[in-house]
Amino acid sequence: MIQGAKSHESCKRCGKCCLANIASLVYDIEDSDRLRWIAENRNDILRILENESAVWMGDHLVSAKTGKIIHSCPFLQCDGIFTTCTIYETRPIVCRNFTPGSSEICPLYKK
Ligand code: SF4
Ligand code: SF4
Repeated sequence: MIQGAKSHESCKRCGKCCLANIASLVYDIEDSDRLRWIAENRNDILRILENESAVWMGDHLVSAKTGKIIHSCPFLQCDGIFTTCTIYETRPIVCRNFTPGSSEICPLYKK
C-alpha cells in the first residue's frame, strides 16, 4: 500500500491498490477502524464514508447517494505523478494489511 513503512523502498506509489477494488473494502469499514476514528475525533473520515456509502452494481462501484461510479478511494490524492493516502497515519486495517506485490493489480506482482 502506498507509503507503507515496510514497503517504502519498493512501492511505486501508483495508487492502483487504492482503486475501486480496495476502495470498496475501505467503505465497508471494520469496527476497530470506526472505534479508532471516533477515539481520534476523526469525524471528517466517518462523515465522508457515511455520506458516500458505496455499493457494487455489476462490476462498478457506485455511490449509493448519487449513483455515480466511484473510481477510487475518497482518501487518495494524486499530484499528477505520485499518489498519496491523505489518511495514511490512520488508514484502515485492510490497507495496513496490503503488501506490495501481493495482488495482480500491483505492478510489483510476480507470478
Ligand atoms: S485509505 Fe488510503 S491506503 Fe487505503 S485505499 Fe484509501 S487511499 Fe489507499
Ligand atoms: S499498487 Fe503496488 S506499487 Fe502501486 S501503490 Fe499499491 S503497493 Fe504501491
